[in-house]
Amino acid sequence: APNTSQDSRLRERAARVIPGGMWGHQRASAVPAGYPQFFAGGDGATVRDVDGRDYIDFMCSWGPIILGHRHPEVDAVVRAQMEAGDCLNGPTEHAVRLAETLVRMIPHADWALMQKNGSDAMTTCVTLARAGTGRRKILVASGAYHGAVPWSSPSLLGVTAEDRAHLLHYTYNDAESLAAAAEAAGGDLAGIIVSAFRHDVGTPQEMPTAAFATTARALCDAAGAALIVDDVRAGFRLNLGGSWEEVGVRPDLAGYSKAIANGQPLAAVTGNDRFRPAAADAFFTGSFWYSGAPMAAAVKVLDILERENAPARLQAAGARFAEGFVAAGARHGLEVSLSGPPAMPEMHFADDRDHALAETFCLEALRRGVYLHHRHNMFLSLAHSDAVVDRAVDAMDDAFAALARSRPTST
Ligand code: PMP
Repeated sequence: APNTSQDSRLRERAARVIPGGMWGHQRASAVPAGYPQFFAGGDGATVRDVDGRDYIDFMCSWGPIILGHRHPEVDAVVRAQMEAGDCLNGPTEHAVRLAETLVRMIPHADWALMQKNGSDAMTTCVTLARAGTGRRKILVASGAYHGAVPWSSPSLLGVTAEDRAHLLHYTYNDAESLAAAAEAAGGDLAGIIVSAFRHDVGTPQEMPTAAFATTARALCDAAGAALIVDDVRAGFRLNLGGSWEEVGVRPDLAGYSKAIANGQPLAAVTGNDRFRPAAADAFFTGSFWYSGAPMAAAVKVLDILERENAPARLQAAGARFAEGFVAAGARHGLEVSLSGPPAMPEMHFADDRDHALAETFCLEALRRGVYLHHRHNMFLSLAHSDAVVDRAVDAMDDAFAALARSRPTST
């Protein structure tokens, strides 16, 4: 962006008072150079940057937006609770309504408790697996992301070996490696954490195989350990009963966040009755964990997702996006594909070392009003109507044309 833009002025100010200019996964270095850092608003399937440019949004705040930005029915219940008072001396009735809704919708869930973000939820699952079994070892897939706290952070900066002392690693979708890790844990196996599907950044996504999922369940059953599904990213996009309903395997514990309240800050942990005593006795809290508006939002969001048969609609929108993307690439001689579930696709260009082609393509698409990601999965929402997807595909066709023109011809 030119340095006269509002975005660059904010970046300069941020660089002085915010380490690295911005923290975390929404810093501009996580997207291609040339993307805006700062946003001013959103509406439906569109986001607007601080310089007033609108983009058709395929990141959806990196997951939270599942109905579209500023959904009127959700925003109405949020406003109502805000006007009544949001952060009080105890939870509102929405906490009970939301727990009832989750227990009704999610087959493995006999109870639910609410928190604020995915790292909380997954850390709680680990604590409950240990509290409920009296054991220590947790199996985690190499390269999987479960949050930004010492046991799970992808960075080892500031993390001690002791923080990771009781983790053992396996390879996602490799039943043998999982069995070997369980064997190594022996009688100290507290739980196995699995991602909803393999969505490690920068590598093609993979759905869980039936063999892997049933092995995970069988190993936990044999050892009396907890099977934990991390549904923070995928939750409510693939299956309203939890993502592993798709493979017919039910966890003992699961964590959700992102899409649960269409952008309001909220996470949830669900569990079965085996882990109810542990969940009742272990200590969990947070200053803002009882505020009512996000829970009111979540009750409304889940209601709308059921009413709209959201997973099927998201899948259809994703399929339309995929078909348009691949065909547009082919028209310009570029072999492209998408991995993972259609509702959460990740793009790949053939022979694309370091995602360089994908990165240039995304920047060309951004210039034409489409916000994509070159190496992280993207997200569809219910606001991605056929007309919206078709407009995005038209813009991507132009972006492919620009990429094909700028590319040195190969033989
Ligand atoms: N698990 C998964 C699979 C995630 O994608 C994320 C967030 N990207 C987390 C856990 C952590 O969630 P949060 O950032 O809300 O703490």
